[in-house]
Amino acid sequence: MEINLLYSGVNALILLLILSSPYKIIQKPIDFGSLNLLPTTDTASTDFGRLQFNPPASVLKPKTPEDISLLLSFLSSSSFSQVSVSARGAGHSIHGQAQALDGIVIDMGSLPLEIKVHKNGEMESGLSYVDASGGALWIEVLKETMKVGLAPRSWTDYLYLTIGGTLSNGGISGQTFKHGPQIANVLELDVVTGKGEMVTCSPTKSSELFYAVLGGLGQFGIITRARIPLQQAPKKVRWQRAFYDDFETFTKDQELLISIPELVDYVEGFVVLNEQSLHSSLVAFPAHLEFKPEFVRNGRFKVYYCVEFAIHVNQVEIIHVEKVVKEISRMLSYMQSHLYSVEVSYLDFLNRVSMEEESLRSKGLWEVPHPWLNMFVPRSGIKKFMNFLMESLSPNEFEGPILVYPLLSDKWNTNASIALPRAIETGKERVMYVVGVLRSVNPTVCKMDCLNQILHEHHQIAQAASRPHIGARQYLAHHRSRNDWHEHFDSKWTRFAERKAQFDPLHILAPGQGIFPRVTVDLQE
Ligand code: FAD
Repeated sequence: MEINLLYSGVNALILLLILSSPYKIIQKPIDFGSLNLLPTTDTASTDFGRLQFNPPASVLKPKTPEDISLLLSFLSSSSFSQVSVSARGAGHSIHGQAQALDGIVIDMGSLPLEIKVHKNGEMESGLSYVDASGGALWIEVLKETMKVGLAPRSWTDYLYLTIGGTLSNGGISGQTFKHGPQIANVLELDVVTGKGEMVTCSPTKSSELFYAVLGGLGQFGIITRARIPLQQAPKKVRWQRAFYDDFETFTKDQELLISIPELVDYVEGFVVLNEQSLHSSLVAFPAHLEFKPEFVRNGRFKVYYCVEFAIHVNQVEIIHVEKVVKEISRMLSYMQSHLYSVEVSYLDFLNRVSMEEESLRSKGLWEVPHPWLNMFVPRSGIKKFMNFLMESLSPNEFEGPILVYPLLSDKWNTNASIALPRAIETGKERVMYVVGVLRSVNPTVCKMDCLNQILHEHHQIAQAASRPHIGARQYLAHHRSRNDWHEHFDSKWTRFAERKAQFDPLHILAPGQGIFPRVTVDLQE
């Protein structure tokens, strides 16, 4: 094989000796053929969660997708290497998913940033689209596409995440009910498989790899380019928040909103647990609230809920938007007079979490542990799930938002690798809720034992909620054993394992997910 010839020299031997020695860590940069393997860094060893610290032996800073292909071709054809490889996007995982203990972390941000916008008519369907490199951040894609008045349709709440990172998971936000998750908004991908093959895939070309990679937790290949459809970017966004003191009315109104996608562009919601959660939710929402709820009533904690919805505004439609907002507010059953409305630029709306980030950074509360739990809960189980969740929390001590909002099953492609609740996969239910318990922990207040206690509680909640009476599934999942992963993927497990055998037979990729242990085979036999 031509590719292997590149590695037949002394450098290949040095690399193998280092990576198979007990000391593994590379101390100095190695120029391995054309590859630049660097000593490990703290950044490559950790992530946003700050719960796991797994130093790799080395960091690869690829200059081209071919560099990634060379490395994976070499590792998948060398019989005595145990080395695993993880693509690292922005490292905003929680449980070490982009880490590779003693292996190689590929810094996707070092690939040259390429964002090429194709406006109208260049494809048969006349769709506009953007081609973006796998390590590009969504904020970079947004800024580039907005230069020509366009933008992707489906988002995450936070934009400093990479294209490859969110497409390996799902990518959800308030637009998902209308346009589907980000993994349902991809036209084509360039992928380097675990065998080092460089493949361009789409729903009609190498489709098995295309769907494997979408929501595939980095298991099948490394995304080096994604083609994403674009729509007209609105000039502004009319953003509403309405408050509720009753969970059923809150979810009834959310479901009403997602039933009128022709009028509404974004629907989310969150639990208002305490004064702190009310105030921090206002960092990006520039309204003066008259809402002064009592959080303790008759000696008991009382929580509230906030529905968020937004409507895109284009200059010519201002009067229309006024009318729509009035019409919708008449249909909703929020607490009297507690509907608040602001108008912000599209960029500020989509980039709202970065304002919260700034505020948290200024208080030293961004780079702290984040024991997050994200669940997809079928509609039939949401009340039970929330009761169960709330029983486990102390509202006066909880820091961070708890998001709750509905999604629609028909916006998801069941060929993609992501695991959804069985009731959703089988079409038995049409609505599922995402519940994001996005907790921050101040390490000066909550030390190791306290953090472990939270993680233990989350584990218990996730386990219990996965049983049939609720039938939930973790999103951005973290599981402790292969058996748990098997249960997570449920009827999709066989296909998931077959795809692994096909595209990454030695289990080189994404060891941080803890799904498939590395295989060593003597290829000479
Ligand atoms: P990383 O953490 O770097 O990697 C995640 C996984 O993907 C790893 O297994 C890694 O090996 C793999 N991977 C990374 N790049 C590639 C690639 N190019 N090809 C193949 N595999 C790759 N998610 C939502 O859906 N909606 C939200 O609103 C949302 N908000 C968030 C807000 C914050 C503040 C944070 C920290 C996270 C949020 N997330 C949200 C979760 C986020 O989408 C995931 O954690 C995602 O993986 C982060 O992307 P990343 O680039 O940091 O990925």
